[in-house]
Formats: sequence, structure tokens, C-alpha cells
Amino acid sequence: MKRIAVLTSGGDAPGMNAAVRAVVRKGLYEGMEVYGINYGYAGLVAGDIRKLTRRDVGDKISRGGTFLYSARYPEFATEEGQLRGIEQLKKFGIEGLVVIGGDGSYRGGLALAKHGYPTIGLPGTIDNDIPGTDYCIGFDTAINTVLDSVDKIRDTATSHVRTFIVEVMGRNAGDIALWTGVAGGAEQIIIPEKEFNMEEVASTIQKGRERGKKHSIIILAEGVMNGNDFAEKLSEYGDHHARVTVLGHVQRGGSPTARDRVLASIFGAKAVDLLKEGKGGLGLGIIGSKIVENDFEDLLQNQKHMPDVSLYKLNQEISY
Ligand code: ADP
Repeated sequence: MKRIAVLTSGGDAPGMNAAVRAVVRKGLYEGMEVYGINYGYAGLVAGDIRKLTRRDVGDKISRGGTFLYSARYPEFATEEGQLRGIEQLKKFGIEGLVVIGGDGSYRGGLALAKHGYPTIGLPGTIDNDIPGTDYCIGFDTAINTVLDSVDKIRDTATSHVRTFIVEVMGRNAGDIALWTGVAGGAEQIIIPEKEFNMEEVASTIQKGRERGKKHSIIILAEGVMNGNDFAEKLSEYGDHHARVTVLGHVQRGGSPTARDRVLASIFGAKAVDLLKEGKGGLGLGIIGSKIVENDFEDLLQNQKHMPDVSLYKLNQEISY
């Protein structure tokens, strides 16, 4: 394979740039030409494609977001959209593609693979909700960003004897809440994967107070409900002086952590190796410390993401 391309798609995540850099540098190292596609599948269909040099990815490893930009382009779910994308790939002589994004992006990759275009997917999303991998590019940075805020909230929560509800991202997954809840010593973690009882939440806060606890921090995954609704429901079980913090999009930004950069670099280089071998239709992942390849179709149809819910129990045992 002599000419490959790379795009970022769906929600951006810190470390995407590091992954693009790895694809470009490793591709050039292997004697390939590497093209960058702007704005995900929208740019593919529009032919917004350019050759990338070693220098084009210089100074990018430490930057959040994606310098190739990202876009949502639902038209790529149609056969017509896909054929137009393939036309562009042919026009530029591109023989293989690396797609960095979430499961929606993988579906686009699967469609291209089915049309005979070797495509490799790299899991990139702060939500960490892609099946077939323990960690996605961007997750580690996001949880460290959240943790920084939780630590600050703890300072003020202690000073005022208050209950703080911190709403964190994650779409339908509780990973961010679980990790930041344990790391931040939150009294309670509320995630979509575990049912909760508001009366019990209230009584746990109350008991803590009776024991002399100064504050209570609740980390709430956005997939359960929004923070204000949660506070309102909690107030039905006594006055907890609850304050709500919705962290929002700060969680998506920032310079990627070392862990995200290294993961992105490993995935990026591995994707090039696989394309070089003529392989495609695969999504990369890390299980334990092992890099794995998952068939797109199997990944999307049969595998389901599950966060490490043992962290939930752990938190109940050590943070009350
Ligand atoms: P993510 O990749 O983060 O899950 P999206 O679900 O928005 O984000 O998907 C990103 C892009 O992938 C979409 O805007 C679209 O261009 C493409 N895509 C999503 N679903 C499909 C599909 N079923 N078939 C082909 N392409 C898809």
C-alpha cells in the first residue's frame, strides 16, 4: 500500500492530534504517502483532502482538539454518500484509511471496508464508550480535567457544609463518573449502569452529616439525568443545600495527558502496520496492556461497552 489517508470524526477528544501525527510519521517512515482529510466524512465526500508532510504534524502532539477538524455528517450513513466518498478516495489514489472517532465513525469505516476499502478505526472519545477496548483516546485527559474541578469543589464544599452535585459527561456511559468519583473521593457516584434510590442517597448524606461530615460530593453521569433535575428530586427528601456544577465542554479540551499521547501513538503506528499488511475492517483497542484488533462488524453488532463497575462497589466501601 503506497498511499493512505487519515480523518477524525464525531466528537473531538484530546489525543486525536497525537494519533494523526503517529499515522503520518509512521506512514512516511514506511515509505508511504499520507493524506489528511478535513472535517471527517463531510470532508471526504467534499474532497477536502491534502497531502501531509512530517512538518504538518510538527508541534501537534501536545494540542487538544483535532487540527484535521471534525464534523457530523449523517449523509455518510447512505449508500450514495459512501459512493461519493469512495469516488474521492479513487481520485486521490488513496488505498487505505485510518478513522479516529467513536462508534458512529466506525460505522462509516465498516461501510468503506464493505466497499473494499481497507479501513482501520482508532477509538477516540472522552466518553470511553466504544466496545472492544478498556480505554479510548481522550478519556484519561478528560478524567484528569474533571478531577481538577472536583478537588476545587471539595475545598469550597468543606468550607460551607454543603452537598455538591457535579454533572459530568459520558453520554450513556458512566466511565468518567466512576473514575473521577473514586479518584476525587466522592461520597456517591450515580451512573446509568447502576440503579439508584434517591431516598437512600438522601439518607446517606444525612448519616454522614450526623457523623460530623462537612460535605458530600455526588458525581452524576449525564446519562442518568441532568444535575438540576437531580438536585430537585433530592430536595424532596430534605434540605441538603445542594449546589449543582455542570462541567460541560471543558471536559473535552486541553492538552492530552502522557497516557493519552502514548496510547494515541501506539494506536496510530499500529494502524499503519495493519494497512501495510493489507488488513482493514478493524477497530483497535487495548485490553489490559495488550493491543487488540476487533472486526468492525463483530464490534458493532455483538460487543457492548461496559465500564469497570467494580469501581462503584469500591467507592461504596471506601468513600462514605
Ligand atoms: P462518533 O463517531 O463520536 O460516535 P457520530 O455518531 O456522530 O460520532 O458519528 C460520526 C460520523 O460518522 C457521522 O457524522 C457520520 O458521518 C458517520 N456515521 C455515523 N453512523 C454511520 C453509519 N451508520 N454509516 C456510515 N457512517 C456513519
